[in-house]
Amino acid sequence: MTICECGITSEYLKEVLEGIAKRNSNEPEFIQATKEVLCSLEPVILKHEEEYRRLALLERIVEPERIITFRVPWIDDNGNTQVNRGYRVQFNGTLGPYKGGLRLHPSVNQSIMKFLGFEQIFKNALTCLPIGGGKGGSDFDPKGKSDMEIMKFCQSFMNELQKHIGQDVDVPAGDIGVGAREIGYLFGQYRRIRNTFEAGVLTGKGLDYGGSLARKEATGYGLMYFMREMLAANKIELRGKTAIISGSGNVAIYACEKATSLGAKVVAMSDSSGCIYDENGINLDVIKEIKEERRARIKEYLNVVPSAKYFENNSSTPAIFNIKADIILPCATQNDINLETAKKIVANGAIAVGEGANMPCTNEAIEYFLENKILLAPGKAANAGGVATSALEMSQNSMRYFWTFEEVDSKLEMIMKNIFKLCKQAAKEYNYGTNYVAGANIAAFRKIAKAMKSQGII
Ligand code: NDP
Repeated sequence: MTICECGITSEYLKEVLEGIAKRNSNEPEFIQATKEVLCSLEPVILKHEEEYRRLALLERIVEPERIITFRVPWIDDNGNTQVNRGYRVQFNGTLGPYKGGLRLHPSVNQSIMKFLGFEQIFKNALTCLPIGGGKGGSDFDPKGKSDMEIMKFCQSFMNELQKHIGQDVDVPAGDIGVGAREIGYLFGQYRRIRNTFEAGVLTGKGLDYGGSLARKEATGYGLMYFMREMLAANKIELRGKTAIISGSGNVAIYACEKATSLGAKVVAMSDSSGCIYDENGINLDVIKEIKEERRARIKEYLNVVPSAKYFENNSSTPAIFNIKADIILPCATQNDINLETAKKIVANGAIAVGEGANMPCTNEAIEYFLENKILLAPGKAANAGGVATSALEMSQNSMRYFWTFEEVDSKLEMIMKNIFKLCKQAAKEYNYGTNYVAGANIAAFRKIAKAMKSQGII
């Protein structure tokens, strides 16, 4: 057992888990994320129990350095004043400036911000680049908003956020609901208020003003580089396999592009309403036109490809996970795959699951996959290509220079290969076999713990 409290023998770890549950009782996603990590770390904790307890290392790692919450007032197209809540969680700056995306979605709350910020510390450590962990966003719903409303919201959000960020302090980027358009409005307002062209304060910028080539593609491409490495280490070829991808946003689209170029056939993609199935392989140009250009619903795929099928979501299992495939790539949102869905996926004969989204599988689903020998690429490691390339964008901004698409892509590939190597080595060292979930957590934790010890009790 790796992510379940019942097998835990470390008294210190038990106390910490109890403390987290008590102190954050109204934050289920945060409790879920910390439990998944801490339980898998038990063998490391047992080795250093006394020292970690003395330094309150685990208590400190689960407590954000700072949480900023603020009011975001803006005026809609009808002249009405709207109020949203903004967040920035500066979770852990030990390894570098806080770094992590901004999410705009009505489900955003403190629990979701904290789980994402916590995961980000570990993910960023695995990239081996100098970035700490943070996350932010708002419960603002971008769906159905006009361009003007999006701009007004972003400007108001930045009026407050700018007090807390900077290229050496905290560097936000995109996440659900935040792409190049939103980053552009946020950057413009930062520049206006601060009267400085501080390119490195945000990543995911447009290519004309400091953005990096291959940043848009990076999370999805990185996911597939990781998947290819993981399969190869288990003597399986990606070429010729079928895949399904939940979501049709930034991560999903570029996972599909890379999967296809590496020889896999993606037969289904989805959005929050339902999924499309195309047995001939998804035509990604059609998806890009629907999602990147028109921001419309995925169902419209059938207008261009009438031979495809559409399945509406109407049960606890999103329709896409009923479709058989070798490789399952959840790239939408957290807790997309629960135990019931995991059972269907295993029964359908899947070989591997690659988490493009953050925490797309519940802890029970992860256990089930591992018990059933499904190769599982954990999000912290497998979707780290996005933040890694954001760090490369910061490097280019500092140098006032740019790298070609091929240069950035080859650095991304090298970083993903190295992340897989770290996960594999740590899993091997602690007898976790092919449990790369534990491998990722251990490899990242050791790096953060060492740096936190060096910097004293802060
Ligand atoms: P986008 O906003 O571009 O796309 C999100 C996709 O997920 C959409 O297709 C959306 O459908 C779908 N979706 C389904 N259910 C939900 C739901 N309940 N809440 C939100 N979205 C839902 O986001 P990204 O592709 O950027 O992010 C996808 C996942 O990847 C997230 O978990 C994010 O944290 C993670 N991630 C993103 C990185 C990045 O670089 N962008 C980096 C690392 C991780 P609909 O349009 O119907 O809402």
